[in-house]
Amino acid sequence: MRKAQKRKAMKKALSIFGAALFFGGILASVALAADPIHVMILDGESAGTYHKWKLITPVLQKELEETGLFQVDVVTAPPAGADFSAFHPDFSKYAVIVWNYDAPDQRWPAELKTAFENYVRGGGGFVSVHASDNAFPNWVAFNEMIGVGGWRGRTEKDGPFWFYKDGKLASDPAPGPAGSHGQRTPFQITVRENNPITNGLPKVWMHQGDELYARLRGPGKNMTVLATAFSDPANSGTGHDEPMLMAISYGKGRVFHTTLGHDINALSSVDFVVTFQRGTEWAATGKVTQKVPASFPTANSVSYRTDLAAMDPGYDRGLNPLDAAAPKR
Ligand code: ZN
Repeated sequence: MRKAQKRKAMKKALSIFGAALFFGGILASVALAADPIHVMILDGESAGTYHKWKLITPVLQKELEETGLFQVDVVTAPPAGADFSAFHPDFSKYAVIVWNYDAPDQRWPAELKTAFENYVRGGGGFVSVHASDNAFPNWVAFNEMIGVGGWRGRTEKDGPFWFYKDGKLASDPAPGPAGSHGQRTPFQITVRENNPITNGLPKVWMHQGDELYARLRGPGKNMTVLATAFSDPANSGTGHDEPMLMAISYGKGRVFHTTLGHDINALSSVDFVVTFQRGTEWAATGKVTQKVPASFPTANSVSYRTDLAAMDPGYDRGLNPLDAAAPKR
């Protein structure tokens, strides 16, 4: 073969190879799109009966499954006092682990903690819902993953308070316990940062009655506060704009942390549904493909889903009462 012919033959071979790669790539991406995102919802314990985790899990599961994007397995950890030696959830089977789980430090054996750390550090997704950020106050890696947490003895030793002040993220190392909230009332949420989760959401919206977490403390490393809410001193608040939604990176992993979602009433708020669905997709894939529904709340009106609210067994006797109706403490 002459040199020029050889080059031509080589070029042809390369272009066939290129086409094979190209079509292979298309096939792979089609297969991926048809492939659901595998999600584990982890539950099994809460700090008190006020957090009804057994009722919450089916609501979270429904919210994820109705998008058509996720395939959800529920993994229930053994209860307090039970043997954890046989509890080895296979985190690697999932793109994201959603926590509806709050347990004290001693509950998990060291190797289970290491397995979860390695999973997230290696690129696994993690979503922390409401009181899941109360869990494991002395597990260093866990606190780096959630950015900030509250209760269970957290104090200044665990990191500063984090909040928004004058439109900027600020921290305060002042001593004091971590975690507080006032009575449950509807409150406004303000977007602070653009991220695939918050893109396309209104700048300000109203969230259905819920606990407005405040005085959260933690390392705050690699943490972006996506949205805040004003913690009103008239309702035992701090006077600060407190972090509500956060995106944290931990190694190659992505963490979406929502402080919202005390009960089913709160979980039925359309903004909870939407930010939870989008946050879970983002934690799993780094992208959000979901559109914002027209029913999203506005700056002065709550919007909640009666189909979800009705998953509360007490719903036929009225909404789970909001504390605003209770006498002032
Ligand atoms: Zn709560």
